[in-house]
Amino acid sequence: MQNAGIIEKEHFTKEDLLILLSLQGEDLQMLYDKALAVKAQYVGRKVYFRGLIEYSNLCSKNCYYCGIRCRNKKYARYTLTDEEVIEAALYAHRNRFASIVIQSGEQTGNKFTDAIERLLKEISRLTNKELHITLSLGEQSEETYRRWLEAGAQRYLLRIEVSNPGLYKKLHPGDNHHLYSERLGKLHILRKTGYMVGTGVMIGLPFQTTGDLADDLVFFRDFDVDMVGMGPYIEHEDTPLYEYRDQLLPLEDRLELSLKMVAILRIMMKDINIAATTAMQTIDPHGRERALLAGANVMMPNLTPLKYKQEYLLYKNKPGTQDDAEKTKAVMEQNILAAGDEIGYGEWGDPRHFKKRNAGM
Ligand code: SAM
Ligand code: SF4
Repeated sequence: MQNAGIIEKEHFTKEDLLILLSLQGEDLQMLYDKALAVKAQYVGRKVYFRGLIEYSNLCSKNCYYCGIRCRNKKYARYTLTDEEVIEAALYAHRNRFASIVIQSGEQTGNKFTDAIERLLKEISRLTNKELHITLSLGEQSEETYRRWLEAGAQRYLLRIEVSNPGLYKKLHPGDNHHLYSERLGKLHILRKTGYMVGTGVMIGLPFQTTGDLADDLVFFRDFDVDMVGMGPYIEHEDTPLYEYRDQLLPLEDRLELSLKMVAILRIMMKDINIAATTAMQTIDPHGRERALLAGANVMMPNLTPLKYKQEYLLYKNKPGTQDDAEKTKAVMEQNILAAGDEIGYGEWGDPRHFKKRNAGM
């Protein structure tokens, strides 16, 4: 098989990546098989849960792709109470998820910073520091990142969204709040502050080329990222990008491209954590399972209280918005077992890549 040689290479060039991203049929299955073998060897066939808490859909930004952008007036805006966040965190702890993610629309200012700091301290106290906490709260000052780390967070997810600055400009308003250089700078600050750093991209965006996706993979490698969450772009009718929906790849193709990205990245960065994301499940009820078989090893069961789930719609047909935490957990357990993996209950599942870098290996 002509592409077998490339899959076995130690270092992929951009040309290699372009070929890998275009694989089909048997060649593509070989890519997935190789990624699964690398996953088994370097991180094990084990999937870690991160209970997702969607803290607030208030956002000060206006990203052209996102349903909860501040100009979208169609959603009622909510912020969970401290009690609701703590209840969700304790649910995760009781069910031995070992990790949670607190995610939100981007908000800055003392009130928000203090609220997150207070919650981090309270959750750490109530769970005896047994939960590892990931934050996904957008661009913040260095001081804020430091305060949150000291209050009990360990990991931070900030997707670069696209690594091509020209494309980034097309997907965001041209003002000072949506600068590629700022977002990239924040990733470096997070690394310097001491977080395990995650980033990611959307796949199948309007104007995005296969070359851009190859560059995204190179970006992850060059940044030496610890965790990646990436998935298909899914259009939302109340956003400016909806105008370009006719230019998009069919949804199944966007999912397939996302699975290829996961598989190639697993081969390139063997010991990082890679998420099987919700957007994959939106397109195919077996989407997350397919991602696990392509090399992903993290899942994020949504623990947001049911009454708010319908208000945190980044894109159309987000799955599981009618499911409570028990149902969500049961569905994910099924996904994992169907993929032939086991669940890392009670284990933090911190990225081995981070541990190795810090041990200077
Ligand atoms: N506000 C924070 C931020 O932007 O980093 C965190 C929350 S934001 C809702 C989380 C991620 O949702 C974004 O990084 C983006 O990649 C993803 N997202 C937003 N709109 C999307 C869409 N239409 N399709 C797929 N993913 C989307
Ligand atoms: Fe706000 Fe994040 Fe959505 Fe951008 S992607 S509009 S920052 S929630």
